[in-house]
Amino acid sequence: MKILVTGGAGFIGSAVVRLAVARGHEVVNLDALTYAACLENVAPVADSPLYVFEKADIRDRAALDRIFAAHRPEVVMHLAAESHVDRSIDGPAAFVDTNITGTYTMLEAARSYWERQGRPEGFRFHHISTDEVYGSLPPDPAQKFTEETPYAPRSPYAASKASSDHLVRAWFETYGLPVLLTNCSNNYGPYHFPEKLIPVVILNALAGKPLPIYGDGSNIRDWLYVEDHADALLHVVEKGRVGESYNIGGENERSNLDLVKSICAILDRLRPRADGPYGDLITFVADRPGHDARYAIDPHRMRSELGWRPSVTLDEGLERTVQWYLDNEAWWRPLLDRKGVGERLGTGAP
Ligand code: NAD
Repeated sequence: MKILVTGGAGFIGSAVVRLAVARGHEVVNLDALTYAACLENVAPVADSPLYVFEKADIRDRAALDRIFAAHRPEVVMHLAAESHVDRSIDGPAAFVDTNITGTYTMLEAARSYWERQGRPEGFRFHHISTDEVYGSLPPDPAQKFTEETPYAPRSPYAASKASSDHLVRAWFETYGLPVLLTNCSNNYGPYHFPEKLIPVVILNALAGKPLPIYGDGSNIRDWLYVEDHADALLHVVEKGRVGESYNIGGENERSNLDLVKSICAILDRLRPRADGPYGDLITFVADRPGHDARYAIDPHRMRSELGWRPSVTLDEGLERTVQWYLDNEAWWRPLLDRKGVGERLGTGAP
């Protein structure tokens, strides 16, 4: 299969690129290389004859037309986006531009290419989205996000992703473009940009800095190991039903506070600290405005239709992740100098 991956220099996109090439697929990685990108993420496949990189912006229609014509992909996996909720609170414009206008431009470029090719039956436009479009769940474990849960986004990021999901569905209903949608829970794992909770906690701990917990740490997330997610996405693009959406979760709910305590326990074992346990560094800070209380995915459709389940538990995935950061300082150290990294963002303060 020849796959055009957008956002393939980011965290999840690069996991998709690495896995797809390892499985023998041809991959064109289209990425604008924003602050969140890192081409080292795809270094393991950069020299493969199956891999090509194209630096381009998904809002640039002429560039997209050129790339579609030059590479003639059989499927598109669209991951390029502004992805950090805290940054969306401080500067929502970039999220509207990239996530909504960029997805619209991708849809139009893909539609025009698909029409020019004579509407090939196997063509797919797979849009990768988030469970945050569904809003916030109460603590009741019986309640989970299904594919039928009404959309109720609460942050600028979630609203921009919800808008892009609606555009993708409209292009299916109106133009017949063969689309697939997935909405996944919070990812974690190797190559996670050091502005997100898990890498922030690991790297602050190693530096002896406070481990910031928003609010009281009771917010619950359903953690999905990024390499499991990449595998799930390839399942969907190969076997998913056209026009359908699939929720992808890790079956691993944990509160932020318990998650941070788990990371501290792993570090206490792997890299003991002379000044006492890492848990001593936990510090509660002002909450994020509109912070969703709980996300949890009902994974029934992925399991029953596509036979997919996550392969690792949260504890296994965290152990691998912590070990990866201990082994890959050359990857993360330079990223600490990028704009906004290490700063408290998204407090809602003017
Ligand atoms: P990321 O921020 O790590 O990577 C995004 C990539 O997109 C970067 O390489 C960046 O350079 C590229 N990009 C941004 N704007 C672009 C533009 N205008 N043109 C071309 N490229 C551009 O994001 P991620 O965490 O890997 O997320 C990937 C996708 O998965 C996003 O669509 C995100 O909404 C979705 N998602 C992420 C998570 C998560 O936990 N990380 C959860 C659910 C859904």
